Amino acid sequence: MPFFVSPNAKSWIRVDPESDFPIQNLPLGIADLGDEAPTLVTRIGDFAVDVLGLCDEGFIDNEGLEDFAGIAEMGKQAIVDLRKSLYDILREGNPKLRDNSKLKKQLLLPASELTMILPMEVPAFVDFYSGINHASNVGKMFRPDMEPLLPNYRHLPVGYNGRASSLIPSEVPVLRPNGQTKAPDSELPTFGPTRELDFELELGFFLAEGNDFGEAVSVADAEEKIAGLVLVNDWSARDVQRWEYQPLGPFLAKSFATSVSPWLVSLDALEPFRVKGPAQEPAPLPHLQQKGPGHFDIILEVWLQTEKMTKPQRISHTNARELYWNFAQQLAHQTSNGTPTEPGDLYASGTISGPEEGSFGSMLELTWRGTHPIKMVETGEERRFIEDGDVVTLKGYCLGKGFRVGFGELVNPVAKP
Ligand code: MN
Repeated sequence: MPFFVSPNAKSWIRVDPESDFPIQNLPLGIADLGDEAPTLVTRIGDFAVDVLGLCDEGFIDNEGLEDFAGIAEMGKQAIVDLRKSLYDILREGNPKLRDNSKLKKQLLLPASELTMILPMEVPAFVDFYSGINHASNVGKMFRPDMEPLLPNYRHLPVGYNGRASSLIPSEVPVLRPNGQTKAPDSELPTFGPTRELDFELELGFFLAEGNDFGEAVSVADAEEKIAGLVLVNDWSARDVQRWEYQPLGPFLAKSFATSVSPWLVSLDALEPFRVKGPAQEPAPLPHLQQKGPGHFDIILEVWLQTEKMTKPQRISHTNARELYWNFAQQLAHQTSNGTPTEPGDLYASGTISGPEEGSFGSMLELTWRGTHPIKMVETGEERRFIEDGDVVTLKGYCLGKGFRVGFGELVNPVAKP
């Protein structure tokens, strides 16, 4: 059973109307406490709340928390039930924790002081390619003499198996990778640092439950398996990608780093923002057809700050509604041949670009392969791709009446050599 919080609900903790984390959200995350074992936390306003601490103090007796071994171990229903318990503890009018100043001091942690790690341990990572404007833009640049979309695009969610081993949390620096590239006018490739380091603005979903070998998950049942959504930055080396990707798809151009935001936002919290996706024409085959709205109205932004700048500049603004294939269709496709999936598996959406300039989800598209550099207003610098020392921030949020539900920020600097 899902658990929805009323749009009018309030917490006894003050939450700024601009915060991504009102009581309607209550995402889960994992805080690294240094010497101690990492703990499960939720987020409300500027505070992270120590969920395992609440458990120790007898505020929560949910199954799955006694011997907590990660969100992936909890199962979907325990995750939903936990959010319900957290709502009760934090709702306006419940004095139990509100009036216990000693415990409040112990269990309410200033979120800005915490180091957050990945919300789940990830056995497998898949990246789809479901942003149709992105796929079309890349087609135009990489295969200028062909139709931008390959013939399969509107019939199945194209994807590839990525590397779970190089997933990194927010704040961790990205290292510019070495790779093999070939200039169009040279006969042989060379090996060295990528000259076209890029980001990809994506969302991802984590599984709370997997499926057995040989069992397909239907589109209708797929959301039952999903623990929640996160922001994903699929860091990419475009010059490496252009040379290596044919005929099997991306490999080393993507596997060096993929960053993931800390707060796992439940589909229950996103329910008020559910919308219909774009019309699918031609209609997908029956096993991939979506009945009813399966997309979410999530505003997405990319911000860039160079070393010389004092504050970041927004360079892209788009929406998750632009995805051609939604999460349920992606999971149905993944399992349609009987592939087993596991709790903690991460599926990223593919780069989400809007239809027009300024709404593209990568530098490749924003600067049209470097031919139209972005001007940084504060310093007059130009960017074709991402330079060492630059900081890339992704944001995602939904606007409700008087509140917003969001993901916070996914911030990664590019390391200086
Ligand atoms: Mn990608």
